Order: sequence, then structure tokens, then C-alpha cells
Amino acid sequence: MSEVITIGEPMIMFVADSEGDLKDVVHFTRYIAGAEVNVSVGVARLNHSVSLISQVGDDPFGAYIRQFLNKEAVETGLVTVNGRYSTGFQLKSKTEVEDPKVVYFRKGSAAAHLSAELIEKMDFTGAKILHVTGIFPALSPETFDATLKLIEKARTNHLMVTFDPNLRPTLWKDEATMVARINQLAGLCDVVLPGFREGKRLTGRTTKEAIADFYLNNGAKTVIIKLGSTGAYCKRLRSDGQVAETQVSAFHVDHVVDTVGAGDGFAVGIITGILEALPDDQVLERGNAIGAIQVQHISDNEGLPNRNQLRTFIEKAVSKSP
Ligand code: ATP
Repeated sequence: MSEVITIGEPMIMFVADSEGDLKDVVHFTRYIAGAEVNVSVGVARLNHSVSLISQVGDDPFGAYIRQFLNKEAVETGLVTVNGRYSTGFQLKSKTEVEDPKVVYFRKGSAAAHLSAELIEKMDFTGAKILHVTGIFPALSPETFDATLKLIEKARTNHLMVTFDPNLRPTLWKDEATMVARINQLAGLCDVVLPGFREGKRLTGRTTKEAIADFYLNNGAKTVIIKLGSTGAYCKRLRSDGQVAETQVSAFHVDHVVDTVGAGDGFAVGIITGILEALPDDQVLERGNAIGAIQVQHISDNEGLPNRNQLRTFIEKAVSKSP
């Protein structure tokens, strides 16, 4: 099994070629989206082995997704093809002044019908980290169940479990259900990675320290809070019972093209930093670097750096800083 395992829904993403209301856009460019796909691609580009668990339809979208993942060296042996359902897709508006508008066509998709049976049969030998987001479990009762089973199995097999809440309110029945379910999953994971706004929404607390304490008291061992252009903050329960706090500033970005996908890039930095046993400040620095690279790209994964690109980005930024 690969070092990193994740579960999620890859989708075709059509990005508008021109600005304005999506209903008026005539031409789109095709990309691939999905938080867990972005994370898998980023982890693979940094030369760590990674497997994606998913399900696509027996259609051209599904075929293209599998081809894309193979090209990116993401292990696809656990991406099943199910001809009874379609592969999901999404439309994304073009804008440089605010967050883009994203419209999803994923209800009842092949991924939403992924069965937990596949997970029961999986062999976790050699795997080190399971990465889960709050998107996949929101797709259907089956995917919530599959996610829970996967986390339980990972814990039994002593994998570290990282969790990005990645809130998608439209996928949940209501706000209260979303908050309860996401916090239930977060409580089963070792490392919780909320954005600051997400953390406030999920915990009702208003400071990064208080949000971190909420998750530490709920079962997590490390909480890393994404602070957008400010950087990131980490609070960790050390093995000696002491609490360690670390904050690292963001990299300067001259021109933000698209903020979507920054959190996934950040997760790539955290996961690979942990795999390489980097100290906390370097783990956060790597997360910040990949997040900053991501906001400069319109695709959610094409800009993800390889090792050389990441090193060059960090070195350049450090040499420019006063
Ligand atoms: P997403 O929109 O992908 O869900 P998020 O809300 O989870 O993102 P953000 O805090 O927006 O996460 O961004 C993740 C990380 O990316 C930040 O912690 C920071 O390191 C980096 N980042 C985001 N925006 C900027 C920016 N404008 N300049 C520099 N770095 C940024």
C-alpha cells in the first residue's frame, strides 16, 4: 500500500474562459477538481506514494480522470468504475476580485455510491497517513459510513489520520447536521486542519487558540489553523503532555488569481512535512508555501510544485525578505 491514502470524489471542472454570470459563458476550459485529488497530486509530485479511493462512472469523464491520475503517478487500483452512475462535474466562474462561483453536478454520482465493502477488503500494510476531508462524507449516507469505516480501520492499523473539514454547506441537510458530523469525524482524527472562518463556524469560538483547544479537547493531537494571507497557527499536544504552539507567516503573493485550492495545497505541505518528520515550523512553512503557490494558479492542481519548484519558491522568498 502507498504511504498516503485518501478517499474522495474527483470531478471534471469546467472553468469559464470569460468573466460574468455562468449562464452567459459560452467557452470553458476543462480541468480536474476535487479536494482529495488535489492533495493526491500534490503528494505524488513531492515523490511520496499515494492511493486514492474513489468511484467513477463508465463514461468519458471517468476515463479522463483515471488517465489523469495515472499520469500524475497517483495509485488508482482503488478507483472503481461503476456503469450504473455518472462521474460528477462542476462549473467555475472566472473572477479576480472575489472567490469564484462554483456550481456542482454531483448529486447521485458514482462516487456518492461508493460502498464501504471495498474498504473492508483493503490491506493497509505500509501505509502511514490517511487523509480525509469533510466533503466526501457529505455526499451520501454511504460515503459517510465508508469514511467512518476507513478512519476506524486506519486507527486500528496505527496510521496517522489528518482531517480537513473543507465545509460544503450545500451538501449537508442543514447547518446543525454539518457541524455535528464534521466535529464527530474531527474527534476521531489526529491532525485537524480547519480554516480560521471554518473553525469559528464549527466551534462557535472566536480565537485561533480557543478553536485549537476545542479540537484538542475533542480528541485531536494537533490542530493547524489556516489563516489565509496571514499564514498558519499550530497547537500540538506533545508526547510529554506539554502543549507546543507555533505560528508561521504566509509568503508574500503579488497577484492572487484564485483562492480555491489553497487549503488543499496547504494540506500537501502538512502531510509531506509530517512524513518527512520535519519540525513544526518547517511543516507550517511548507504548507504556507504550497498554499501561496496555489493562489497564483487558476487550476486547483496544475500549479502544485515538484520538489525543485518548492525549494526554489522558498529560497527566492527567503532571499527577498528583509
Ligand atoms: P480553500 O479556499 O482552499 O478552502 P482554506 O480556507 O482552507 O482555503 P486558506 O487559509 O484560504 O485556506 O489558505 C490556505 C493557506 O494558503 C494559508 O494558510 C496560507 O498559507 C496560504 N494562502 C492563502 N491565501 C494566501 C495569500 N493571499 N497569500 C499568501 N498565502 C496565502
